[in-house]
Amino acid sequence: MKQTKKNIINRIGIFIFLCMFHGFEAFNGNKRLKRGTAEPRYFAYRSPRRGVISIFCLLGMLFVFTSMDILSQKVVIKKRPPLELRYIANEGVMLSSGKQKVLVDALFSKPHPNYNAPAKEILKKILAGQPPFDNVTLVLVTHNHGDHFEAPLAAKFLANQPGAFLAAPADAVAALKESAKDWQKIQKRVVSLDLKAGETTGINIKGISVNVFCTLHSGDRETPTNLMYLVDLQGWRIFHEGDSDGHLETFKKFKLGKESIDLALVHFWFPLDADGSRIIQEVLRPEHTGLIHLPKRLESDAPNKINMVRKHYKDIFLLLPGTAPKIYR
Ligand SMILES: [Zn+2]
Repeated sequence: MKQTKKNIINRIGIFIFLCMFHGFEAFNGNKRLKRGTAEPRYFAYRSPRRGVISIFCLLGMLFVFTSMDILSQKVVIKKRPPLELRYIANEGVMLSSGKQKVLVDALFSKPHPNYNAPAKEILKKILAGQPPFDNVTLVLVTHNHGDHFEAPLAAKFLANQPGAFLAAPADAVAALKESAKDWQKIQKRVVSLDLKAGETTGINIKGISVNVFCTLHSGDRETPTNLMYLVDLQGWRIFHEGDSDGHLETFKKFKLGKESIDLALVHFWFPLDADGSRIIQEVLRPEHTGLIHLPKRLESDAPNKINMVRKHYKDIFLLLPGTAPKIYR
């Protein structure tokens, strides 16, 4: 039985209260026994009614005690392993916790006039499966655009990392199949998410459960379809927006934020925009907000802009080239 710390503290509280109440009644009864003002019984309660209450207290103590699982040694205070957020480029990140690693939108190389691609030496390590990018469990692709995904690189990555799975929209998977040298070898580890805007689904890969939400692409474009992900990684809930349409209604319809979100990764302009700021503050309500997809030309200007709105958020930060890995405990 999984029990939270708070749950156990509550139970211990009830247990102590019942002990005290029962002890008080028994103590009183004993005093009367000694004085000879009570019948010599096992417990001489002040009145039959109080006796009944006290016996219920005893039963309550027994119930609370056993439900704490102390007797069966099953008390588990689940502590999450730390979560690491490592920035790669544009919307590309690696999330790691315990022995699990998830790469999102990190497999692309072509220089884009507006956005950074992963640094050459980083990409080399990712593709070769060298630390810290070894033993990646899952690769998520939000959509089939060159600044998020490059099919030949994904094919190479899957061939080099035989334990890694990849989940992507159907059009990205079609491109992957096209460009893979040995599709048979990687096919079983590829999950094609064939959704239309407004649809959702859920997948579970090696214990990592992911909720998938399909939206129109930014600019309300129908192609390519964009997938937003809510990843449950070792008890951490991380949201990645991809290039969504950015409409408040879209996020509300998916009932996002129903479950608490630890880290949300959204467009850099969200906190500076009417809909975007409400998406963060009213819908997602994350503990930490990481801002992604920052154009190169705004790298020097954006930090001041974000500083101006910082007070409206719990923790908000830009993911800029060279941002050191962040660790949450
Ligand atoms: Zn895009």
